[in-house]
Amino acid sequence: MPTCFYNTLTRKKEEFKPIKSGAVGMYTCGPTVYNFAHIGNFRAYIFEDLLRRYLKFKGYDVTQVMNITDVDDKIIRDSNKAKNSIAEYTKPYRDAFFEDLDTLRIERAEYYPAATDHIPEMVQLVQALLEKGIGYRSDDGSVYFKVSAYPDYGKLAHLNIDEMRRGSRVQSDEYEKEEIRDFALWKSWKEADGEVYWETEIGKGRPGWHIECSAMSTKYLGNHFDIHTGGVDNIFPHHENEIAQSEAATGEKFVNYWLHCEHLMVEGDKMSKSAGNFYRLRELLDKGIDPSAIRYTLLSTHYRQKLNFTFDKLEAAGKSITRLRDFKKSLSGEFKEGQLQVNDITEKYLAEFEAALDDDLNISGALGAVFSLMHEINAFRQGTELCSEDARAVLKTLEKIDSILNVLTEKEDKLSDEETQLIKARATARKERNWAEADRIRDQLLNLGIILEDTPQGTVWKRKIGIK
Ligand code: AMP
Ligand code: ZN
Repeated sequence: MPTCFYNTLTRKKEEFKPIKSGAVGMYTCGPTVYNFAHIGNFRAYIFEDLLRRYLKFKGYDVTQVMNITDVDDKIIRDSNKAKNSIAEYTKPYRDAFFEDLDTLRIERAEYYPAATDHIPEMVQLVQALLEKGIGYRSDDGSVYFKVSAYPDYGKLAHLNIDEMRRGSRVQSDEYEKEEIRDFALWKSWKEADGEVYWETEIGKGRPGWHIECSAMSTKYLGNHFDIHTGGVDNIFPHHENEIAQSEAATGEKFVNYWLHCEHLMVEGDKMSKSAGNFYRLRELLDKGIDPSAIRYTLLSTHYRQKLNFTFDKLEAAGKSITRLRDFKKSLSGEFKEGQLQVNDITEKYLAEFEAALDDDLNISGALGAVFSLMHEINAFRQGTELCSEDARAVLKTLEKIDSILNVLTEKEDKLSDEETQLIKARATARKERNWAEADRIRDQLLNLGIILEDTPQGTVWKRKIGIK
């Protein structure tokens, strides 16, 4: 079955065909590092992680580029307020971003170019547009993109260009532009920018936001590449402008497939910094929520559907992961020798898992296949004893599945001293047949997020996933 993705450009599901056989070039719009990312941002990065991991699962050699926006109006405003350079100001947020990626088990991209390291590439692109008469200078030395000179403008967002208001200078904040729909490629230095500027062939100033992504994507992936992603809020104007700049400058097609994820919502509104209705990853971790429950919650709704954030969803995600991990654990240990019996079951559900993801990353279908695999193997075990070959085959299937989900392995987990002491104290209480004390300690451990199970082999513990 071919792999299909919904392409925002054509508004259709299309078969994915890479430009170069066996390889995929993919650009993903990254964070603006003026603050900590919120989990809405991480919905986008986890969708991109799913896409990247699935392409690798299918055997593609993936080159992913994610930009770091480390210069923009907000960064300049806040760093000036803090009397810091933009490099000093953005560093902690940038470091936190990478830490958060690891916490959410998001696989690293091949490149994380920072905007401030790529000013010459942006200047070159602006120069090319000036030479073609598609870029023009305003009185203050800034450079704008002339939308009327690029007839394809609007093809991604499906805008009717004639309906866009033209020439209404008075309503525009940036009244240096010729038309309201024109956008800045280069912003000339103003006093409020303070120390933030570059002296370049096109003057003293700094780049516009959109030109960043055009310059850095083509530097690492070439003028024409396979996939560009982001959240739906990026479609217009950011991605529309990227297409216009890149295609006008190079004369080549920019990107074949545009994939956009829907928003993470809070009570009907987009989770965003400006609306103030956001959760940062750290805040959730401080509440004792396991990062894999957050990953699972953000991953398990189809990327083109809005996802409403609730604590109940995190709790449910924790339970699903626990069931899967318990299933995996039940397959390790000693099994009888014998012939493989469960091959039909593992093959059937792995094929279902793959077919679902081939269909525009249908994660609900894929997860459905994983739980069906678990049910069917458990049902099989009711009647027939598994042999070691069977256990190995199921574990291998789970490993393949988890190369995408990445929630099945528990991070190396150690008990704290307090937890160890409590478990010992409970064992002593049980030996002394002091059941009331043993139950009290069990509850105390449960409050700390430790679940105890008394098995014939002794007491085993696991951490509760979800909310402590
Ligand atoms: P920003 O730092 O605002 O430029 O956003 C970085 C990425 O996060 C972009 O791809 C945005 O589209 C995406 N994003 C921002 N808010 C949300 C949200 N509530 N849900 C999903 N993606 C989001
Ligand atoms: Zn971008």
